[in-house]
Amino acid sequence: MKVDGACLCGAIRYEAEIDPAAVLVCHCSDCQIGGGGAFRWGTLVDKDRFTLLAGTPRYFHKIAASGRERALAFCGTCGTSLYGTQAEESRTLSLRLSTARQARELRPSLQIWHGSAYAWTGDLGDVPAIEQQPQIG
Ligand SMILES: [Zn+2]
Ligand SMILES: [Zn+2]
Repeated sequence: MKVDGACLCGAIRYEAEIDPAAVLVCHCSDCQIGGGGAFRWGTLVDKDRFTLLAGTPRYFHKIAASGRERALAFCGTCGTSLYGTQAEESRTLSLRLSTARQARELRPSLQIWHGSAYAWTGDLGDVPAIEQQPQIG
């Protein structure tokens, strides 16, 4: 499946060919902190099936819980998290699918690092919800 996406400010744009059956949620603490949410979700993409159309990401290097050094790509202007990859030579990257225009068509098929998941992530259906920004003050 062909997807395309961009960071929040639009400086970085990409397209990629992904397997929509291989979408996963990651509950590791690096994803929780670096992604600014309860978890990150994405998919592994062969680097030769990923093309940057505009912009140049910046990288933050981090030793992951797996013990491997990860290079985490983000937009240097707006800070959007774009993908992660092994710092040493690697064939794949882990694309953050929240940046994809087709994100709403995709559904995860696996959760990893569930041992560090926030306990409430499976219970959001029970939490009261409003469709947009609440009126405050
Ligand atoms: Zn940006
Ligand atoms: Zn993770």
